[in-house]
Amino acid sequence: MREILERALGKGREEVIYGETASYIPELGRVDKNQLGVCIYTSDGKKEAVGDYDVRFTIQSISKVITLAVALERCGFYKVFEKVGMEPSGDAFNSLIKLDLSNNYPYNPMINSGAIAIASYLTPIISFKKMLQITRRLCMDDDITLNTDVYLSEMNHISRNKAIAYLLESKGIIASGSVQESLDFYVRMCSLNVTAESLANFGLVLARGGIHPETGEQLLEEDVVQVVKTIMLTCGMYDGSGEFAVHVGVPSKSGVGGGILSVADKKMGIGIFGPSLDAKGNSIAGRSILRTLSKELNLHIFA
Ligand code: GLN
Repeated sequence: MREILERALGKGREEVIYGETASYIPELGRVDKNQLGVCIYTSDGKKEAVGDYDVRFTIQSISKVITLAVALERCGFYKVFEKVGMEPSGDAFNSLIKLDLSNNYPYNPMINSGAIAIASYLTPIISFKKMLQITRRLCMDDDITLNTDVYLSEMNHISRNKAIAYLLESKGIIASGSVQESLDFYVRMCSLNVTAESLANFGLVLARGGIHPETGEQLLEEDVVQVVKTIMLTCGMYDGSGEFAVHVGVPSKSGVGGGILSVADKKMGIGIFGPSLDAKGNSIAGRSILRTLSKELNLHIFA
């Protein structure tokens, strides 16, 4: 297993030069794009990790998986999907074109518009502090904290997400007057510091239908996990989701911090950190690593 990981990492490393860090959030632009790490946690309890698997980076859009799961549990399926769709958008993660022109609802919870809408459902019923506790439990990582520098950097460059939030408010998707609070909650969730290992841990919880691999505790309801994994498969890599599903075939969610969370169902959780991103905002080396792992470990859901 270690050999396979090393090989996948080496191949992924060749891609790093073709990508860039997410400089639209200045603090992310300062991250060293050459970092690369991967961690695998299998359902028989084995953990293997190579490269920068223990380096902290911000979870960014991968937090959308957590907010969706919590919203499904606390608000219910009907409320969550009343005004947020479950279709791939085919557009960039921060696009507002279709939201304004052709579709009155966000396409899905894995893009900014959908996640900001869901944040607005959660802010009245759950504190950020509680969300942080839940995140720590799901990732089996008590050292997850808010990265204040990244949080402030994003809050100072928030125009686009603000535009999305006000558009959502104008369409009655988020309650009037809740824009600031929803954005703050959304950006805080994006600014949590995780590692590739924390993501592998979370991946294994999802792979096991919400069950903590060590204590056996049911951390998330099984039907919620089923919905979350399906939406990760169809929408988790933004407008690169279709191609990724064909080549990798493993439900995954990326973030512009360079992370990818992958769930090989029943088998393993995979966490990746590689902050050099492709044009769509997905870790360029991470994509390559997952392609190799999917092939070598036979992880494609239709293999
Ligand atoms: N915080 C980022 C944003 O809203 C998250 C985007 C991402 O990871 N794709 O732009």
